[in-house]
Amino acid sequence: MKVIEHISKSNGTLFSFEIVPPPRGKTITAVTDVVETLLPHNPSWIDVTAHPAGAYYNERPDGTIERKIYKKRPGTIGICGVIQNRFRVDTVTHLLTQGFTKEETEDAMIELNFLGIHNVLALRGDGLNYNKQYDKSRSVNHYAIDLVKQINDVKNGKFLDELSQSLPLDFGVGVAGYPEKHFEAPSLKLDIQHLKDKVDAGADYIATQMFFKNDKYFEFVSLCREAGINVPIVPGIKVIKNLKQFNSVPSNFYVDFPDEFVEEAHANPNHVEEIGIRYAIKQCEELVNAKVPSLHFYVMNDAKSVAQVVKKFF
Ligand code: FAD
Repeated sequence: MKVIEHISKSNGTLFSFEIVPPPRGKTITAVTDVVETLLPHNPSWIDVTAHPAGAYYNERPDGTIERKIYKKRPGTIGICGVIQNRFRVDTVTHLLTQGFTKEETEDAMIELNFLGIHNVLALRGDGLNYNKQYDKSRSVNHYAIDLVKQINDVKNGKFLDELSQSLPLDFGVGVAGYPEKHFEAPSLKLDIQHLKDKVDAGADYIATQMFFKNDKYFEFVSLCREAGINVPIVPGIKVIKNLKQFNSVPSNFYVDFPDEFVEEAHANPNHVEEIGIRYAIKQCEELVNAKVPSLHFYVMNDAKSVAQVVKKFF
């Protein structure tokens, strides 16, 4: 079932979450263990992140440095297939413009269709110190909206090359939204205009970046509604576990923490995990009371503290 169908069939707030594929060379059990931990709370869908190839620098035994290009976390589509077929939970495959040609994206969509996966989140992604060189015969999407348009084309049976009697592929499409503004956008207003363009191009829901101040989300939703965006806006939640995250999360995701949360955690460094759980429960209570479509958790691969929060609601 598509995300938009889960939302429209539900009377209350749903539970969903996002995981990352294991690093190259590790087994899939890291991911299936997370799913098993959270399965008793009835997730409606599970997102699996996508990762382009990046440039990484390794020191050789002789002390010289080598630059290697590879995907650190391959396997997004395979993991979606495993989760959906083993656990019978719908999956949302993240698709990126960054690092993928339109031809590769079309192949990915055909593979997803064969696996029975009918949800994608259309994203631009970010460069990882590497710009893939493309053959002139290949074509690329730039912004996420270009990808939404390509997905829309295959939904109408229109492939990159004209194919006789080609059948449409069926996808529900989500896009990303940023309650605290995307870091490159010159203003929140312009960022929301670009978001509206993605929705008008065919996205049927928005998944937000994580945030820790509910006011930012509520304000964002009302600005989106004023701008004429009427699709569901699913809030992204992150449960903080350690002090380091108070620095890494703002620098990676451009989001802000409430002062009282930062102060309490720093005053009690041995109890950050329980403070993070308590704070997330409080945040979720307010969101559930506001009847948000789903509480969407950025689990990455650590499900235990998320389970502590989720068990209060689902
Ligand atoms: P876009 O919608 O293309 O926007 C990017 C920037 O360009 C914005 O500032 C926007 O305002 C601006 N813009 C858009 N259109 C135009 C235009 N026509 N002209 C000028 N400016 C324009 N990253 C990953 O690598 N893998 C993942 O799996 C992943 N999952 C994510 C899931 C969620 C829910 C979120 C919120 C983010 C995720 N990201 C992921 C990160 C995301 O790829 C980055 O934040 C990226 O920088 C922007 O992606 P986007 O799809 O929002 O881009």
